[in-house]
Amino acid sequence: MDIGGTGMKCALVDGSGAILHAERHPTGAARGSETVVETILDVATGLAGHAAEQGRPASAVGIVVPGVVDERNGIAVWSANVGFREVPLRELLTKRLDLPATLGHDVRAGGVAEARLGAGRGYGHVLFLAIGTGIAGAHVVNGVSFAGAHGAAGEVGHIIVRPGGPKCGCGALGCLEAVASAAAIGRTYAERTQQNATAADVATRSEAGEPVAMAVWAEAVDALTDGLHTAITLYDPGVVVVGGGLAEAGNALLGPLDEALAGKLTFQRRPAMVRAALGDEAGCLGAGLLALSLVDGTR
Ligand SMILES: [Zn+2]
Repeated sequence: MDIGGTGMKCALVDGSGAILHAERHPTGAARGSETVVETILDVATGLAGHAAEQGRPASAVGIVVPGVVDERNGIAVWSANVGFREVPLRELLTKRLDLPATLGHDVRAGGVAEARLGAGRGYGHVLFLAIGTGIAGAHVVNGVSFAGAHGAAGEVGHIIVRPGGPKCGCGALGCLEAVASAAAIGRTYAERTQQNATAADVATRSEAGEPVAMAVWAEAVDALTDGLHTAITLYDPGVVVVGGGLAEAGNALLGPLDEALAGKLTFQRRPAMVRAALGDEAGCLGAGLLALSLVDGTR
């Protein structure tokens, strides 16, 4: 189960990572954390029931959420857009379903899925970058993502690329997310033109040669290049897998990004740069892989 601010993506996943059955439900975050948790437990119960009806009873539960996640203790520490504060999701699921359960972070799980089943397959060191409303990252080595000492590793979106620049949601000035996320691209374009546009519109207009759109897009690519430069220097990945809404721009994003990186990296080896393959199911599949690891002993 992948719990997001607006919806939850749920599936029954078999031992090979294939989706046997999928469901989507609204999260209804406005109803409050306790009600959301009740919905999660009900949906999980329904999924387990469905699996049993099919003659293949569930053997474990994996759930991933955004924000700060204490994976060791199975606690959703802080998820702003879902409203979780210190929710012991793993224990609640284990009690309700009488199955082993594991709790993970949505982007790290998505990175694991891309590394094992998607665009990063075949690479031992994968840097997964999800560029949407915000920018998040995951560093996956041999199919395992590293959470850091406090569950906050891989937050590439908060690398400061423009000191003193636009204020980020985290409180700092000039974070990559505040300059080059899809939301930031739309906002910058609107400020300069007094026209509302999504990042996808800006990409299209930039390709069509509209000067303001070209400038905004180039600035975003430049900032992403600087952020990636730092991330590549730290992680030395074999491949960078770019996902999230902005990756829909395809070669309009990856082409210039790859080219700009080639010009900025010095001693660092340039990683392959590919578009994510699993779309918005990556988190859900990653949750399935986390659950499988409880059963088959990997990780
Ligand atoms: Zn920030």
